[in-house]
Amino acid sequence: MFAKIIIDSSSKAIDRPFTYRIPGHLEGVIQPGSRVRVPFGKGNTLRDGYCIGIETDTALDPGRVKEIDSLPGTAQPMESQMMELAIWMRYRYGGTLAQAFAAVLPNRKDVKPVRNRLYVWKGTKDQLLDQLYIAERRKYYAKIRLLKAFTERLTLPADLVSDRLQIQASTLKSFTDQGLVAVEYVEPAPMADLKRDPQGAKPLNAEQQAAVREILEDPRQVHLLYGITGSGKTEVYLNVIEAVLASGKEVIVLIPEIALTYQTVMRFYARFGERVSMVHSRLSAGEKSARFRMASEGGIRVMIGPRSALFTPFKNLGLIIVDEFHEPSYLSDQSPKYSAVETAVKRASLAGCKVVLGSATPLVEYYGKALSGAYALSRMRTRAVQGSRLPEVEIADLREEFRKRNRSIFSEPLQKAMEEALMRREQIMLFLNRRGYSGAVSCRSCGEAVGCPHCSVPLNYHKNGTLKCHYCGFSRPMVKQCPACGSGMISTFGIGTEKVEEMVKERFPSARTLRMDADTTGGKDGHRVILEQFNQGEADVLIGTQMIVKGHDFPNVTLVGILAADLSLNVPDYRAAERTFQLLVQAEGRAGRADKPGRCIVQTYLPDHYAVRAAVKQDFDAFYENEMLFRKAMHYPPAGFFSGIRFAGPDEGVLRAAAEQLSKEAADTFGQTVRFLGPAEETAYKVKDQYRMILRMKADALEDLLAVKQYMEGKAEPLVRDKRIYMTFES
Ligand code: ADP
Ligand code: ZN
Ligand code: ZN
Repeated sequence: MFAKIIIDSSSKAIDRPFTYRIPGHLEGVIQPGSRVRVPFGKGNTLRDGYCIGIETDTALDPGRVKEIDSLPGTAQPMESQMMELAIWMRYRYGGTLAQAFAAVLPNRKDVKPVRNRLYVWKGTKDQLLDQLYIAERRKYYAKIRLLKAFTERLTLPADLVSDRLQIQASTLKSFTDQGLVAVEYVEPAPMADLKRDPQGAKPLNAEQQAAVREILEDPRQVHLLYGITGSGKTEVYLNVIEAVLASGKEVIVLIPEIALTYQTVMRFYARFGERVSMVHSRLSAGEKSARFRMASEGGIRVMIGPRSALFTPFKNLGLIIVDEFHEPSYLSDQSPKYSAVETAVKRASLAGCKVVLGSATPLVEYYGKALSGAYALSRMRTRAVQGSRLPEVEIADLREEFRKRNRSIFSEPLQKAMEEALMRREQIMLFLNRRGYSGAVSCRSCGEAVGCPHCSVPLNYHKNGTLKCHYCGFSRPMVKQCPACGSGMISTFGIGTEKVEEMVKERFPSARTLRMDADTTGGKDGHRVILEQFNQGEADVLIGTQMIVKGHDFPNVTLVGILAADLSLNVPDYRAAERTFQLLVQAEGRAGRADKPGRCIVQTYLPDHYAVRAAVKQDFDAFYENEMLFRKAMHYPPAGFFSGIRFAGPDEGVLRAAAEQLSKEAADTFGQTVRFLGPAEETAYKVKDQYRMILRMKADALEDLLAVKQYMEGKAEPLVRDKRIYMTFES
């Protein structure tokens, strides 16, 4: 018997199957999907690889075929569907087969099987409240988290508790020593025996019922669920999942990592019990692999998690849900740079099941397909909680403030609103929708950013006094006057969260502040500690970047200030308006809950920009219409296909020469069907001593872009092999 083996490597030169003989004792053990160790190359060094097929015969000279050495892990056959998915990913996103297999296959290691461990509160209710009181006074955050969880339910699943609440053994021990908490073990109950949490299951409103029915009955594979923030999408998912489980099938739920909070997980657990599990980036490879194994053996029926949960090896997959599917975190940042949304659609089609894409701000490509009827569409336009309304949103025009000689970063309306909120002892969130990006040059008087005449993206300022386009490479000298209105007040606009915090302290000396950005969230727990402090009322103002807007519910926040909507608008990316609309709508959604009305102030130099106007009215359809006009005029997706090839390398001269030569050859070969932009320097040209350039491409058919990728992979191979340049693909 012979096996086709893919060697685990990022080198294109060996990105094809090699034939090996299967030794007698491994016959029947090695299967497609098994990880194997094989001798490779002249020196017969042992390398890891994947078996992708078994053959009884070979056309090669049998005397020269090498033999498989051993199995590094347990031999588990891979579902043929998963293999097909990996091969498709390699075709769609580039990279090597081995990289695609590594993304799809969990790192198979031997781990001891997990049993379901529970933490059970054995003390009285009064003891629980006493302990909570003490923990709160002493600011023992881990204890507070655990005890609060016990106030909601007296039995907690240990894996979910330690994953999401970050409870260490020592924290638990102080309670088990006192006999207040016991650790117990259970076998997962059969699905049929699950008791539904009576508080968890809410009677659905009419919109929710309609959505559930449409999702279950519509025959179309892809179902878009558009629902405003707070419309109760999760409740819809829970009901659909229940129906799918009842039919004997399994479910994958993708949730952005940052939104995968304890509360979210518990909503699923309360409904479906021990058959729910999750994977996320903090799990060790062994733990993740154990959970995947349980899923393939039927011990887990619902898997929740970010991107990689998509590869849960369920045998009988009945549904995939992608929540907040517009989130950029669904794009992988490692090769293969796959889109988890697109890959979810592919996996659903291989499994013959349905995929639900949910969002309050759907990506326009997908919404367009729903409007055209290619995808099914359900809409929910009201908030689920009785009496809850969307916040009141108003614009503060920074051009006006400039004219009134207000040089502070706070407009008059925002200052006033902050004063009032502080007086009422309510909390404020100040949101900087980008961290210190200062590349674009814009006009203080009319708000326009100086853009590229060819690409409709802002030009980037360079220290040598030129403005450059990061799409096509167009460049011009720095302007002295605004090309739109002639004003001389033109400059780059950069501001960081640190500066904002300083200015809050200056303007409101008695306000207590917290800041959340990449600097303050270092370390394992930074992120959570800040949110907990804010939630406990230890600060009046939370200042932060995108991190603060997602999935966090602070009942006492009644004011959200968006300091400069333009920061994410003036980014050289054709999706900048869409991203801005998403961020604004999400940030607005943080203000106010049922009992206290919320208010949001959006500061901007561009109050008439369609993305800002639609976000203020929280009107997705208005945004969509305008955005599509822009995309069509510029042939950006979905009006065409757009993608890029990135070049990076330590030697600037080599990199430039290679990028330019390769781009020229590609243009000569594919100029008929593909429009090439660049190669241009990336927005961040030098990162970690690597110079970076990108060649962007537009085409009417995806296949034409994929053909260029294939061609470039071949052409660049010698340089890539010598590590003189690196090449990656954008999907
Ligand atoms: P979304 O994900 O659409 O933003 P959620 O699913 O988180 O919204 O629901 C928002 C809030 O509405 C939650 O507090 C949830 O418990 C509540 N909710 C959802 N459905 C109902 C319902 N049918 N009746 C009452 N409250 C509901
Ligand atoms: Zn101007
Ligand atoms: Zn350009």
